[in-house]
Amino acid sequence: MGRRHHRPLIEPELFAQVQDVLARRHRGTRDQTWKHYLKGLMWCARCEGRRVFEPARSQDGRPHFYYRCINRQGGECDLPRFRLTVIEHAVEAHCATIAVTETERAEVRAALREALDAQLSTTKALRQRLRTEMTRLDSREDAYLELVGDLNWPKEKLTKKMREINLERQLDTVPSTN
Ligand SMILES: [Zn+2]
Repeated sequence: MGRRHHRPLIEPELFAQVQDVLARRHRGTRDQTWKHYLKGLMWCARCEGRRVFEPARSQDGRPHFYYRCINRQGGECDLPRFRLTVIEHAVEAHCATIAVTETERAEVRAALREALDAQLSTTKALRQRLRTEMTRLDSREDAYLELVGDLNWPKEKLTKKMREINLERQLDTVPSTN
């Protein structure tokens, strides 16, 4: 009587899954995609190989980053890898030496405005198209709803049509502003 049944606190499979996630996390940042504004913009001065962004983790698990020459891995290039902060400061210092003329400034500004306008009008056009599509679906729905009153209209067919309309509506998701 009262024999206790000792069940594990968590199921073995779940335990294994958790261990797996923890191990992966510990291994580093490989599964994660990091963004950095200098990615793909730097080349090695020694071998002209690409400089790649390299995430790493310190002993206490905090991420830190490097840029290294892609050819360093195979031992073909001996350029040391640089800490991100070192690279960023160097790039900033270099940028400070670049003089931008008023003409260049105006050109960049115009190009930016053009790119933004293009993006904006694409979004606008897309929304307009979706709105038209929604209106079309609405009026089709109205037409079918009117048929509900008609006793001769096959009900299954009508249900199927309505389902199709709703499906199409779900496919047309209006994007939010951006
Ligand atoms: Zn190199």
